Amino acid sequence: MRLGEYLALAGRRLQKAGADSPRLCAQVLAENLLGLSRLECVLATRRELDSREIAALDALVDRRAAGEPLAHITGHKEFYGLDFLVTPQTLIPRPETELLVDTALELLPDPQGELRFADLGAGCGCIGLALARCRPRWRGLALDLSAEALTVTLANAQRLELAHRVRPVRADLFAPPLRPASLDLVVSNPPYVAPGERSRVMAEVLRFEPHTALFSPQNGLAHLDAATQAATRSLRPGGLLLLEHGDRQGEAVRGLLVQAGFAAPQTRRDLAGLERCTLGRKAAL
Ligand code: GLN
Repeated sequence: MRLGEYLALAGRRLQKAGADSPRLCAQVLAENLLGLSRLECVLATRRELDSREIAALDALVDRRAAGEPLAHITGHKEFYGLDFLVTPQTLIPRPETELLVDTALELLPDPQGELRFADLGAGCGCIGLALARCRPRWRGLALDLSAEALTVTLANAQRLELAHRVRPVRADLFAPPLRPASLDLVVSNPPYVAPGERSRVMAEVLRFEPHTALFSPQNGLAHLDAATQAATRSLRPGGLLLLEHGDRQGEAVRGLLVQAGFAAPQTRRDLAGLERCTLGRKAAL
């Protein structure tokens, strides 16, 4: 069978199984297995697949049809134009999280500026590594409680040649080992889904992604509060805090920031028009 015919069949199969972007999904699996770029895959529709390739592709399509996220099958996810390794122990980077990176870069625009940052709850490291990639003189710490996640952060830092500027550190968000007034920027996409909102989370996410990266007590606000407290202590006066949060948490997060001494926090909306990230500056002395 030719690759083009296989992709059409696999696409229909994935569509029936309810996978999103089924045809693209089939193509990504084929690219991955056959070692082709997107363009090569598009141009290779007449390539004959042998029976071993078909069996191997079928196995990947089966996994996706059974609900396993594409990023877990390929082991990769694109974020901010960069390729990240992901595993079931790390949250899969979400497109809406790019807002956090965009906002930090917009507010700290000097391409040659030097700066120290921390990414609290780094997961695969995508936020801190994207920032360091765009700002060659920034240095940062990528904190996470999960040793498995930090292994992935380190692997990504090495692949992106950023291991000398972004250091993975195993740490609890509720007691992070950050020196007082030592940072210019704190970013975090902590767990923020309220346990009571479980029914709003997609079945596929619940089944395959780490619940420790998703759920937070106190209505989803416990980790956002801890990150705010950590930022209050570790930021220099005038330093910037940027937090991702749920679309209904903007007001509550602005409240947390005000209580912690951040002046006039602002919330930004993601491309879907939902409140997604709140920023504040620590009051200057
Ligand atoms: N945005 C994620 C989701 O929809 C939640 C991520 C998080 O809690 N940080 O599943």
